[in-house]
Amino acid sequence: MFDKFFGRFSRDIGIDLGTSNTLIYVKDKGIVINEPSVVAINARTEQILSVGKEAREMVGKTPPHLIISHPLNHGIIADYEVTEKMLRYFIERVHEESFTLMPRPRVVIGTPLEITEVERKAIEDATLSAGARTVALVEAPMAAAIGARMPIQEAVGNFIIDIGGGTTEIATISLGGIVTWKSIRIAGREMDKNIIQYARDAFNILIGERYAEKIKIQAGSALPLKESIAYPIRGRDLITGLPKEVMATDAQIRDALARSITAIVESVKATMEMTPPELIADIHERGILLTGGGALLRGIDRVITNATGIPVRMADDPLTCVVRGTGILLDDEALLREVTLPSARDV
Ligand code: ADP
Ligand code: MG
Repeated sequence: MFDKFFGRFSRDIGIDLGTSNTLIYVKDKGIVINEPSVVAINARTEQILSVGKEAREMVGKTPPHLIISHPLNHGIIADYEVTEKMLRYFIERVHEESFTLMPRPRVVIGTPLEITEVERKAIEDATLSAGARTVALVEAPMAAAIGARMPIQEAVGNFIIDIGGGTTEIATISLGGIVTWKSIRIAGREMDKNIIQYARDAFNILIGERYAEKIKIQAGSALPLKESIAYPIRGRDLITGLPKEVMATDAQIRDALARSITAIVESVKATMEMTPPELIADIHERGILLTGGGALLRGIDRVITNATGIPVRMADDPLTCVVRGTGILLDDEALLREVTLPSARDV
């Protein structure tokens, strides 16, 4: 009776708790939060200073007593307390924005593939203690496939590659379940590190994390571009200690990224090798779907096609597939029941 009453009025929410970005979908409203998974903490007072975009602006610019935390390292909750605070902050903001006094929401949340029972329970506990009434966990690639409207309930092979910030997750899905999968800790953030390392080795320049990401987004590629470009590498000269700028070509940046791209391609091939032949035949016909922010790297789709012989399609709006999938699940009770992971709180 109460549940029915609450069910009618509460604004249920879907969450993509990503290593790089946290997105929240509110039923009947759409995506209301899309912010970096970053928290700034004052170590003197242990208080949260800011969360999301505001905290991210502070990266690399803080005095010693301000700590910038990326609480989700590689998609796993590296810092439970900070994750809980971040979730609570976002959930409260969603509630504030809906003006009226709302009962606690039902929450569907996308989680990484490689996750232990303890970590699964940590996410459930954090979500409940952040104010959720119920919490359902769904594997993020499953949610992404649902968000991209793949026919995951049919007896056909669906192949999805999600290149996020901390992990690349590769999965084949058929009949509502994940059949084979692989998760590697090489994705967007590792590419940024590759660029930092390259700038150091090739130019003797120390660059910051955020600037490395900017280089990747502005000038990074996985295959030669039609028109070559140059991009300034700005940082501190490791020899003189003074500011320095040099121009890098797209070919040089591609060299820097090559190792990560190769690792991703090798994992895609390894996942295919584990996949039953019937499903491979379907995938050959239907193609591969690419999601996550890393899917936006120029030419990464073609590199995967060249290596596998299978057409690759980038999802529309690849950064929001997971959260849109959780939104679809909020509206489809039967599908949600089919794909929800067993709760780790019962054991
Ligand atoms: P997560 O799910 O781990 O939070 P996202 O799917 O939000 O990750 O993707 C974030 C990653 O995508 C970051 O590493 C970011 O640098 C990268 N990214 C975003 N846009 C681009 C782009 N245009 N080219 C290459 N990488 C990109
Ligand atoms: Mg993600």
